[in-house]
Amino acid sequence: MPQKLTNLEERAIRLLLKHQKEGLLQSELWHKLGVTSREGSRIAIKLEKKGMVKRVKEFAKDRWTRRLIPLIREVKLDPIRGAPCLSCEYEHICGKEGKIRPENCPKLENWVLESYRKSLRKSSKR
Ligand code: SF4
Repeated sequence: MPQKLTNLEERAIRLLLKHQKEGLLQSELWHKLGVTSREGSRIAIKLEKKGMVKRVKEFAKDRWTRRLIPLIREVKLDPIRGAPCLSCEYEHICGKEGKIRPENCPKLENWVLESYRKSLRKSSKR
């Protein structure tokens, strides 16, 4: 179920997603957001409770602080661009328990194979 975020929480997540691997120190995030440390701490705790970040204790700049590591990942739509499911007339009856199952769908199979062939052609040109 999608999480409801405040405007500040959403801005914080967008900033953290730019630093997915190493995260950001709390103070760096507050500075970028333009909020006080108190307000920033509240945001971090809320994001942690929502399961979107991990707060890791760290000694930095001569004091103990927390590093915020995002637990969510940015989804790129490029890999599924052009997939037949996005405009399929059978989408409403297709699924794991549906009348049509993706693992038996020739349209999907053809698209996957064609996408694979395209990626091979692209990588052979490099
Ligand atoms: S798997 Fe096949 S039938 Fe199902 S939504 Fe995708 S294209 Fe349509």
